[in-house]
Amino acid sequence: MAAGTGINAGAASRVLNRAYRQIGGLAGKRLAGVVLACYAFATDLVSGWHGMNFAMRGLLDEPAHVATALVILGALIRWRGTLPDPRFGLMMLTCSWAVDVDHLPAEFGSYVLTDGTPRPYTHALWVVIVLTVAWAAARFRAVRSGRLRPATAELILSGTAWGVAAHFVRDIATAPMAFWWPVTGMSAEVPYWCYVAALSCCIAIPPHRLRLLRPHKPVQVPEIAAAQQ
Ligand SMILES: [Zn+2]
Repeated sequence: MAAGTGINAGAASRVLNRAYRQIGGLAGKRLAGVVLACYAFATDLVSGWHGMNFAMRGLLDEPAHVATALVILGALIRWRGTLPDPRFGLMMLTCSWAVDVDHLPAEFGSYVLTDGTPRPYTHALWVVIVLTVAWAAARFRAVRSGRLRPATAELILSGTAWGVAAHFVRDIATAPMAFWWPVTGMSAEVPYWCYVAALSCCIAIPPHRLRLLRPHKPVQVPEIAAAQQ
């Protein structure tokens, strides 16, 4: 039973790694970034999702969040000249939409996370700061320990921070949020063109210059830890 579970976990992580390589390979192309950004813009300009019920808003808004995160991940891939570790990339893509689970209490009638604010308290800058500090602490601890780096905790925390930050890049341009909570619960929102400009800047980032100077090699991506256990 244990051996079977291990085989299943290994097979699942191989499938995830393969999917991540293919998705990352596509996201790293600027044309794909243009298509993804246009998809997100079209969702906002054509669908009118703001006036829909919670389920429909989620069905339309969350894929646009993933598209936004892929545009940012694509810029990161071109900047680095290689795919980030799957533990980072998959966590970033997951958190780019999963942070919206904090809307659920309000949908079930509880305002424990949204009392007096346009969006939950966890839709605010402090979350990114806490995650970044936690990542820095994990990195410091891994460096001091002398173990093989980057440690899984570093990759998970940095991927989560990037995913949540990518989520806010879209959120703050599409509806008010209490971005500065708990300093103030006042609504914050930026003009939509700021979102368009942010994704355009990401798409404008060219491929890593070193890639133009060296012969093409297959991208080496570390396997997810579960595959090695
Ligand atoms: Zn959100």
